[in-house]
This record gives sequence, structure tokens and C-alpha cells, in this order.
Amino acid sequence: MRAGSDLFRLRDPARAAGLSRVLRRLAPERPVKIVHVCGTHEAAIAEHGLRSLLPDGVDVYEGPGCPVCVTSTADINLAVALALEKGAILCTFGDMLRVPGTELTLEEARAHGADVRVVLSAADAVRIARENPRREVVFFAVGFETTAPGTAAVLLDGPPDNFSVLCSHKLIPPALEALLRENTEVDGFLAPGHVSTIIGADAYRELAGKFHVPVVVGGFEPLDVLFAIALILRQLGEGRAEVENAYPRAVRPEGNVRAKRIMAEAFRVVDAVWRGIGTIPASGLELGEGFTRYNAREKFELEARTGDEEPPGCRCPEIIMAKAVPTDCPLFGTACTPLSPVGPCMVGVEGACSIWYRYGERPVL
Ligand code: SF4
Repeated sequence: MRAGSDLFRLRDPARAAGLSRVLRRLAPERPVKIVHVCGTHEAAIAEHGLRSLLPDGVDVYEGPGCPVCVTSTADINLAVALALEKGAILCTFGDMLRVPGTELTLEEARAHGADVRVVLSAADAVRIARENPRREVVFFAVGFETTAPGTAAVLLDGPPDNFSVLCSHKLIPPALEALLRENTEVDGFLAPGHVSTIIGADAYRELAGKFHVPVVVGGFEPLDVLFAIALILRQLGEGRAEVENAYPRAVRPEGNVRAKRIMAEAFRVVDAVWRGIGTIPASGLELGEGFTRYNAREKFELEARTGDEEPPGCRCPEIIMAKAVPTDCPLFGTACTPLSPVGPCMVGVEGACSIWYRYGERPVL
């Protein structure tokens, strides 16, 4: 009962209208670009029509916050080859099946006879490996710091020898830094609540100081988002660039210490290719030295085949770099829809194009 009433409180239209007035008072007299890096934030903003409550001149963009969208073509190609050429059971999250590779998606590979299975976690893939001791089972691990601890946990738990991981986990703070280097219009970050639950609010302090940019960790209810934006605007008005935590009911300054420890045990940090961005130094995770026998890249010795990251006409790279919004793309809603996606931002449920298509023009809260 209490949880329900709390939820209602965080969606209360009267409070939202009050916060909207606060936002108008706090907004500087110049355009402001705020970037979040989380599909759940974009879904909350789009579903509840929160952009209609923002002052004129204050824009919120989704940056590289969709893990499916930023998974490189080379890794998709590798996953397809593992399933088609090596005959492995390829397990991954459902969103990954329709992300374009150079020639095939995983869904198309399945139509060609590959054994591609949707799982909800790395632990599901381990279960499949135990049930199929004569088959090689590869878990295609994608996602940010939110999903990486789950992969680390199964590695530390001693999975069977026929299990391996194609590791494509990525780290959010280096992506924020890459975005700031490439896009000088960014005035502030609405930091992702889920990722911050793991890495902690303190993980952004270096970035905020180095680039003099406000970073506010926000939750996912409508008033969470509006409150976090208000804190960013207040910092801008006061000339501050600090880390503030507007989601203290879930995020601690130090994050989840145990999750961070098992990630450090299982993985090493490597340079990683982000689709739409390119290589970002120290932004990815690869299996650590003690786990090489579970590393699918080494176990199967497949060459990574690179290819065009985006189909012709697709503006995902600009959307991922917070330089465009989905409706800037002429293919949005015409040639490109969730039923026949052209680019990765229309595939994943956390992709900006998919979210904008799903919610369209919604009434204000
Ligand atoms: S609408 Fe489709 S083609 Fe256009 S940017 Fe989005 S995913 Fe790419």
C-alpha cells in the first residue's frame, strides 16, 4: 500500500506542474542541452510527455544510453559466425536478435539454421550449457555496468567447460567523456539511475571537475526526472559543476561495493568500439586473465569482421552523440519502424527511435 502511494506521489500532476514552474524560474536565458544516457530515462520522458513541461530553450537528448545500439557491427558479426559457422548455441538478450550485422542479424542467422536462443541472464545461458554438455554454448554479453555483474557472477561461480562468453560489456563514464570531447554543446548530464546503483554517484566526480559540467543522478519516475533537471539548471545558474544525487533511495555515493568487486575480479578494462562513436579508450570489459578459457574470442579463434556501422541514411551516430533527435531522420516512421528497423536505434527497446515511435506525441502529465 505504501509503495503504491509513493509511486502515485512521484507521478502527481500537481507536483509536476509545480516543478515545471520551478524549472522555468531556474532556466538560464540561453539554450541549454541536457543529455541522459539511459533508455529508461528516455522512456519516462516520452511516455509522460515531460518535454512539454520543460522551459523553452531547455532540450533533453538521449546520448549513448542504449547498449544494443552501441554494440559494434564486428561483435554482431562474431556472434553470427559463432552460431552459424561454429555451430554453437548462441544465447543473448532478445533485443540483440534484430540488430544489423554486416550481412545478417542473429534472427536471420537463426532462419539459416543457427541455434540462437533468447535468455534473461547469463545464468540462463549457464543452465543451457549444463543441459547440453555436448554442445558449445556462448553467452553474448552486452550491456553496461548494470548487467556486467551478472556475467561476472557466473564466471566466478565456475561454469561448465562448454560455456563461454563473447564479452561486449561497456562502461558509461568513459562514454560521457567521449561525448563531451565530441559534442561541446552539452551543458549537463542526467546520469543513469540503474548504472549509478552499481558504480555510485562518486564515479562521476572526476568528469564533472575535469569538464566543468554538472552531473545529476536521477531516478525514473516523472518527478524524479523533473527534479534532477531542476538541480542541473540550478547548478548552471549558480555556475557550479558538481555531482548531485537526486536518486538517493537507490544510489549511494560508493555504489554497490560487492558488485564492483566481482566485476574487478572477473574482467579487465579494455578499449572498446562503440557503434556510432568509434573506439573509446578504456570503455569496455573483457574477461580477465584467470578466465581466458571462457573467452569465446580466444576459444574459437574467429577473426573479427568489421563492416559499415550504419545503413545508408541512418542518423543513429548523430542521435547517439546527442546531435540529433529521431524525428530529424527522414526514415523515421516511414522506411524505418520497429517492425522493419533500418538502424540499431529503432531495434532495442532502449533506443531513442524505438521509444519515440512507441510513444509518439503524448499528452502532458
Ligand atoms: S529512424 Fe531508423 S534509420 Fe533513422 S536514425 Fe533512427 S534507426 Fe536510424
